[in-house]
Amino acid sequence: MIDARRRLLAMIAADREALVDLLSRFVRARSPNPPGDTRDAAAVLRAWLDTRGAPYRVVARDPVMPNLLGTFDGARAGPHLVLNGHIDTFPAVAPERWTRDPFSGHVGDGKVWGTGCSDMKQGTASLVAVYCWLHALKAELGGRLTLTAVSDEETFGPNGARYLIEQYAGEVLGDCLLNAEPGATTTVRFGEKSPLWVAIDIETIGAHGA
Ligand SMILES: [Zn+2]
Repeated sequence: MIDARRRLLAMIAADREALVDLLSRFVRARSPNPPGDTRDAAAVLRAWLDTRGAPYRVVARDPVMPNLLGTFDGARAGPHLVLNGHIDTFPAVAPERWTRDPFSGHVGDGKVWGTGCSDMKQGTASLVAVYCWLHALKAELGGRLTLTAVSDEETFGPNGARYLIEQYAGEVLGDCLLNAEPGATTTVRFGEKSPLWVAIDIETIGAHGA
């Protein structure tokens, strides 16, 4: 296990530049929702998975909103961990007010710039990378790992995670789920302890709910 951890850290270090490039290309493959067409963005993730030989398949209820679903088993029995991230982003509202093109994927000042970098293309790209790294180490690991990279999250639509649970529950409901939605001490976000659904009427110019 110590050897696996050492090899994992070495793979992360070796892929550092490639991972930044992956996020940049993922941002350039625009996937605002609405309308929610994620084919180009999903293709960026698929290329990474294909290059590294990690198993997955595309499952879709709506062909323009593909979901990536992959699973592998380690060398011995153990818990089933599910990785979950979404491929779609908020629409880039008022692009003229951005300091950089929201779909540039520009790399500078120690950051990748563009819409969805925070929510949640960095997280989804990281989970895809983790899935590939651990797949390369599977002979030394126990348990099962499942990757779910989904579409149709931003509008709570029926074609993403909900579709997977309806159609592939036996594959996507594990012992634990790790979701990479953003949140850190350096990120201003709202906290969620549990859903509270309320109706509020506000008279203002319409925009994305976030
Ligand atoms: Zn999100």
